[in-house]
Amino acid sequence: MTIVTRFAPSPTGRLHVGNIRTALHNCLFTKRHGGTFILRIDDTDRERSREEFVEAIRADLAWLGLDPDSRVRQSQRFQFYEQQFERLKSSGRVYACYETAEELELRRKVLLGRGLPPVYERKPADAPVPEGRAPHWRFRLDHDAPIEWTDLIRGPQRFDPRLLSDPVVRREDGSWLYLLPSVIDDAELGITHVVRGEDHVTNSAAQIQMFVALGAEPPEFAHEALLVAGTGKLSKRLGAIGVNEIRGSGLEPMALLSLLARIGTSQPVEPVASLEDLAEGFDFAHFGRAPAHFDLHEVELLNARLLHGLDFAAVRDRLPPGTGEEDWLLVRANLQRLSDAAEWLEVLHGKVDPPDLGHEERALVRDAAVIAERVEWSDQAWRTLTEELKAATGKKGRDLFHPLRLALTGRDSGPEMAGLLGRIGKDRAVSRLRAAAKR
Ligand code: GLU
Repeated sequence: MTIVTRFAPSPTGRLHVGNIRTALHNCLFTKRHGGTFILRIDDTDRERSREEFVEAIRADLAWLGLDPDSRVRQSQRFQFYEQQFERLKSSGRVYACYETAEELELRRKVLLGRGLPPVYERKPADAPVPEGRAPHWRFRLDHDAPIEWTDLIRGPQRFDPRLLSDPVVRREDGSWLYLLPSVIDDAELGITHVVRGEDHVTNSAAQIQMFVALGAEPPEFAHEALLVAGTGKLSKRLGAIGVNEIRGSGLEPMALLSLLARIGTSQPVEPVASLEDLAEGFDFAHFGRAPAHFDLHEVELLNARLLHGLDFAAVRDRLPPGTGEEDWLLVRANLQRLSDAAEWLEVLHGKVDPPDLGHEERALVRDAAVIAERVEWSDQAWRTLTEELKAATGKKGRDLFHPLRLALTGRDSGPEMAGLLGRIGKDRAVSRLRAAAKR
């Protein structure tokens, strides 16, 4: 079987990390098994859908490297939904209803008051049609047998259709609710696996019957436990963490994806440099059923660990022009963000501000300048310099090294000095030592 998956966001807001996790899992599953990953824009709601969000979704996915193999927009498929709707109408699987929202709410309260499940009560076929009222439409659930499937994450699922209301699929004004167009598309696009949040489990029960009613084989389902940040459900409506903020803060997409691929699973969360590597071993069997906790700080930590292991080739294009491989290998272990590299490259090849040193320290770096000028400049320069300076001044340990680091880099800490000094070079080193001695 060739796998076909889809990520189906509604363009009513920006993507948040919960959406990205769903997109990623669809993408990784497809990569792992080979197949097609479709981006379906669920823009049937003309009022709430906005073009700027469609663009933002595309841009965010592109930044993350989650490239769909094909793209579909629901707003271009209304005619197709109409045809399928007519089919279901003729076979009696969708039917007209005339209750107002108030009437339904009242009925619900009565049922609940009597301790009964608040399930929609169908009207007899010959019930009078209220005059001047346009119908909305419900899908008639088949009550004959339980709805069952084996969810790839949740295991065996079973729903009694008599305890579910016939879902509304179309409003009075002819507009579509999400449920039916989604099934029509999934069936027509040959989606083999629907991967989405567990808030859709009950929808899936009704949708399985819709597939059958349309003469299609229902796909496999994987409903993932929700992602939570702190407390509560993570949702864009709750103002959750957006992808654009993460992107804007200079974090690497793979740091975010490394976390989102593995939180809530039995696999270790670790920095992984490519989607291909993440896809290897991706398996819904690793997913737990408890909510996964998202913490942006974990992305920060992964980001640093990821950078510390990245090859020069992976970052070359994003480093300041003229940065060499040796520079990168020297500074990468000190970076929290890739943008921090610029600062260290300035230390290697540009200017540093002379530090304010105390009287004794100034004397020490003055001596150091004299030695640095005299000694042979090899990759042993740091060792030679510090050994001679130690012999000449009697200083050792921090008293010896710290003023040198400050004078040579303008900073308190950083990559190891031996490597730095080699890249800083003799002339620059001597003049920095002299400048620090004078200040
Ligand atoms: N547009 C729906 C949503 O964002 C899609 C759900 C699905 O994947 O079927 O919730």
